[in-house]
Amino acid sequence: MEKKLAILGGNPVRGTYLPYGRQWIDDDDIQAVVKVLKSDFLTTGPEVGKFEQDFADYIGSRYAVAFANGTAALHAACFVAGISQDDEVITSPLTFVASANCVLYVGGKPVFADIDPITYNLDPQSIKEKLTQKTKAIIVVDYAGQPAQLDIIHQIAKENQLIVIEDAAHALGASFKNKKVGTISDMTMFSLHPVKHITTGEGGMITTDNQEYYQKLIQFRTHGITKNPKELTATNHGPWYYEMQMLGYNYRMTDIQAALGRSQLHKLAKFIERRKQIVEIYNQAFAKMEEVICPQILPNVDSSWHLYVIRLNTSHLTAERKAIFKALQKENIGVNVHYIPVHTQPFYQSLGYQSGSCPDAENVYQEIITLPLYPQMSDKDAQDVITAVKKVIQYYSNKKGGKRAQ
Ligand SMILES: *Cc1c(COP(=O)(O)O)cnc(C)c1O
Repeated sequence: MEKKLAILGGNPVRGTYLPYGRQWIDDDDIQAVVKVLKSDFLTTGPEVGKFEQDFADYIGSRYAVAFANGTAALHAACFVAGISQDDEVITSPLTFVASANCVLYVGGKPVFADIDPITYNLDPQSIKEKLTQKTKAIIVVDYAGQPAQLDIIHQIAKENQLIVIEDAAHALGASFKNKKVGTISDMTMFSLHPVKHITTGEGGMITTDNQEYYQKLIQFRTHGITKNPKELTATNHGPWYYEMQMLGYNYRMTDIQAALGRSQLHKLAKFIERRKQIVEIYNQAFAKMEEVICPQILPNVDSSWHLYVIRLNTSHLTAERKAIFKALQKENIGVNVHYIPVHTQPFYQSLGYQSGSCPDAENVYQEIITLPLYPQMSDKDAQDVITAVKKVIQYYSNKKGGKRAQ
């Protein structure tokens, strides 16, 4: 193996860049899309309804409602949950900005509880500390595909009459105590972005068992308009009649996307299985490296492994995350960082959120690196990642055998 780091002028472990995540599209996916393009409906037609039914069947929820993207789906969930001016919603700081932005869209106030430094999911104790008279809901994030401690969090919600919206953008196919994610919270959001488990290009889904939420979600995604005779509140003018009853948006999914989603859904089990295989390969390779902390999965959950996030044990390293990150990039490994804590973003700081308010999330952020993980990766790709991590970590290790032993 070439020992000289690519960042110092050596040869990179790979000749081509390996991304951290990407879609897997086969000919049958393409055929499904082409069929819609040749049909009568391009936007919301028969495919959307079929996709929603297939999705609800897979999850085991009563309803599934498709949206243009996951963020739109979160916005809709916040709206139908009745979150509005002055309502506080507790969420995680270690997430994509959409998990908190959706609260701002409806005029509410995101409140960041801290994370558990082992799983990087919301710490139930910290949620309790953030409760006030104004708390209306919790948006719980299943970080990297591992469900949060949903039983404890739902217990807190029940005791305080809070709605639980689950941001399961990472956790399609995961389960908590043998219950499928998507059947547990009042509403659960899934994202169908290309790096997520299955894709529709852009797309999102809400699953729920609540019929009232379901009807409002449907209406919200199409301008707040209904044509359903049973839902009309004023005099019906005639067959053309529709009513706009609330301020909604155009958040519809197209039939083109839904056909792709249906085709992809058939492959989800295979995709997750492959993700788990790669995780096993990584876990074994990194188990004995004291410089690296592997992902920790609690015994009562089944993660669907959206991300493989390592944490650097900086006490054994001579360099910080930034140098190691850059060195891995130069080896042509598509590393990433999930996430910059949301409350430290300039926009949130301008709203008055303070750095230092979620110390565990902020400390974890300093030391994490996401390694490539997606189902179409080959064993060779996985080995390249391992080779690069070992090469870079050994160089920066301060332990015996490290290149720069001190
Ligand atoms: C991807 C993602 C979203 C947003 O989904 P989009 O489909 O990209 O709008 C929300 N929350 C988390 C945690 C995500 O990873």
